[in-house]
Amino acid sequence: MKDVSMKRYTSMKVGGPARFLIYPLDEQDLVILLERLRDEGITARFLGNGTNIIVSDRGLNEALIRITRMRHTRYRKADKGIYAEVSGGASLTGFIRENGRRGFSGLEKLFWIPGTIGGAVKMNAGSFGAAISDPLEEVRIIDNKGHVASITKKNGGFSYRRSSIKATECVLSTAFLLKEKEKKEVLGDMEYVYSERKRRHPMEYPSSGSIFKAVGGEPAWRFIEKAGLKGIRVGNAAISEKHANFIINLGSASAADIKMLIEKIKKEVYETCGVSLEEEVEFWGFDA
Ligand SMILES: Cc1cc2nc3c(=O)[nH]c(=O)nc-3n(C[C@H](O)[C@H](O)[C@H](O)COP(=O)(O)OP(=O)(O)OC[C@H]3O[C@@H](n4cnc5c(N)ncnc54)[C@H](O)[C@@H]3O)c2cc1C
Repeated sequence: MKDVSMKRYTSMKVGGPARFLIYPLDEQDLVILLERLRDEGITARFLGNGTNIIVSDRGLNEALIRITRMRHTRYRKADKGIYAEVSGGASLTGFIRENGRRGFSGLEKLFWIPGTIGGAVKMNAGSFGAAISDPLEEVRIIDNKGHVASITKKNGGFSYRRSSIKATECVLSTAFLLKEKEKKEVLGDMEYVYSERKRRHPMEYPSSGSIFKAVGGEPAWRFIEKAGLKGIRVGNAAISEKHANFIINLGSASAADIKMLIEKIKKEVYETCGVSLEEEVEFWGFDA
C-alpha cells in the first residue's frame, strides 16, 4: 500500500502518510523485500500495532513493514515447563488469552497490553511489576541485511522498557518458558488485570498508553499531578483526568498538539519537581 495515513495504524490516531506499508507473508518474502528496499535505497521500519509510537503530521518517507500476517504459535512440553514459541507479529493479548485457555502461566500481568509480541519485546513492555522478558528464553531476529540471529534473556540487554534490539532489526519469533497451572487461576489473574486496567486507564479514548517512564521507581503520573497538569489541553490533546501519564486524543488532535503538550509537561514537571521526564513513547518522523 502507498501513502497510507498513520491515523489508521496508530492507537493515538494521529500522523501523516507513510510512503509504503508492506505485509510480507512469510520469512522468505521478508528477506526478498528487505533486499529490494536496500537496492532502492529506501529505509525500512518495523511497525507492530502502533501503540507506542507518535508519527508526525508530515508523515514518513519510509517503508513500514508489518509482519502481522506471518503468524504461528507452537507449544511443547519441556523439562522445566511449557516451551511456547510465537511469531513476532502475533497479538500479545491474543497469545496470553490462548495460554490462559490452556492453563499456561507466565504473562498474565501483561494481559490487555495492546501491542504485538515483536513491539512488546523490543520495548520490554511490562505491567503490574512484570516484564515480557521475565519468562523469555529466546528471540529470533532478522536485520535489514537479511541476517538472522538469536538473542537470549541474558544477552538481549533487557531492562526497564529497554532491550538491545535495534530499529534495523525485526523480531521474527520469541520463545517463552511457561508453567502449567490451574486454568481457573490463570484466567482469574487475567480477569483481575483487565479490570484494574479498565479502572485505571482511559481506555475509551485513543492514546499511546503511558507517555513517560517511571523515574527511579516513582510513576510519572505522580509528578504530572504534583505539577497541577491533570486535564490541561493543547488543541485536542489532553492529559487524562483518569490517569495523568496518559495523553488522550479528544477527537481531532494533531501530532503537533501531542508533541507540544509533551514538551509542556516536561518543562513544568522540571520546574515544579526538579525531575526530568523521559518519554516511553517513540516519535517517528519528527526533526531530531
Ligand atoms: C491503552 C494502552 C495501554 C498500554 N499499556 C502498556 C503497559 O501496561 N505496559 C507497557 O509496557 N506498554 C503499554 N502500552 C504501550 C504499548 O502497547 C507497548 O509498548 C507495546 O509493546 C508496543 O507494541 P506495538 O506492537 O504496538 O509496537 P509499535 O508501537 O508498533 O512499535 C514500538 C516499537 O517496537 C518496534 N517493533 C514493532 N514490531 C516489531 C518487530 N516485529 N520487530 C522489531 N521491532 C518491532 C517498532 O519499530 C518500535 O520501535 C500501552 C499502550 C496503550 C495504547
